Amino acid sequence: MSPLVPVREDLTVLEGYHSAQVPAKVRLNTNESPFPPPETWREQLADAVAATSFNRYPDREASRLRAGVAALHDVRAEEVFCANGSNEVLQCLLLAYGGPGRSAATFEPTYALHSHIARVTGTTVVSGGRCADFTIDGAEAIELVERAQPVLTFVCSPNNPTGRAESLELIAKLLAATEGLVVVDEAYGQFAPHSALELREQTEGLGRLVVVRTFSKTWSMAAARLGYLVADPEVVAACMQVALPYHLSAVTQEAGRLALTFVDEMEARVAIVAEERGRLFGALAELAVEVWPSDANFLLFRPTSHDARKVWESLVERSVLIRDCSSWPGLEGCLRVTVGSPSENALFLGALRDVLGATERGETP
Ligand SMILES: *Cc1c(COP(=O)(O)O)cnc(C)c1O
Repeated sequence: MSPLVPVREDLTVLEGYHSAQVPAKVRLNTNESPFPPPETWREQLADAVAATSFNRYPDREASRLRAGVAALHDVRAEEVFCANGSNEVLQCLLLAYGGPGRSAATFEPTYALHSHIARVTGTTVVSGGRCADFTIDGAEAIELVERAQPVLTFVCSPNNPTGRAESLELIAKLLAATEGLVVVDEAYGQFAPHSALELREQTEGLGRLVVVRTFSKTWSMAAARLGYLVADPEVVAACMQVALPYHLSAVTQEAGRLALTFVDEMEARVAIVAEERGRLFGALAELAVEVWPSDANFLLFRPTSHDARKVWESLVERSVLIRDCSSWPGLEGCLRVTVGSPSENALFLGALRDVLGATERGETP
């Protein structure tokens, strides 16, 4: 069937990004927090919503929210830009700095949205690979950015979907090798042993370092759609120039501002998940799978004696949904599981043992 009106020709080659949304009791496919935000936060937000002047536009500068984020990271509010999820932050960076005739670098396999949004904004994508342990190969990466001089270099740390955080040395080396921005996507930053924000504090002249974070994962607030970047005020101003006026609703701003008063609760949730990650890793290591160490809230693993797609399907039949990465380039045969609550992880492990055991005995799972 021919379309009503043809869309941009360069869009037709892009596949949409989405995770299979099939019904399941145990949902461990999109790296959300298994725990809801604190009840007090919910109550305070309800009060704030009740007091909102909905006939008026929200604060265009999101001043209070940005001040709160700035205080969290000990930076100035002019160094913070907030948007509807870190995906909108990434989109604003690409709208401001990308576009026809410019390029962005990624190191594959990594978060698909970096290259996807780049292409949607007409930015050329140049891609490097990774080492066997899925960290970025320093020499190869430097060679790539020196040669291509991308206006934006995306480093996902910890990397989704492979799990490891990149060293601060690597990020510093990339900054030295390029004249563009180095964008460190720290969606899982709080689960990792270090953050590029430390680099920003330690070293002068790192104005081209951009650190992107989100409330979606560690803050248990995926539904609120809130993310931000910490960068030089010039980068913040550029993002504000391309963002739509009043893009951040009054409700979103309040949700984030209030969440920032629950740092201890958030950190307690992160600690539980990090502990569960260790237990899940240990349990997976005993099964017929190869599993990679993770600094995030998910684990990448590869069944060694079974077809990954079949394992994924058999888990769905047992009402356990994880992420099938087995057809992604560089991740052949791999699956990714989000670390859930202790009971969710137990259900996942039980189902996986069942699937691996059953197929081993040659039964149809
Ligand atoms: C989940 C995720 C995001 C989050 O996107 P939001 O728009 O903030 O929900 C960003 N980057 C990476 C690498 C992610 O895995």
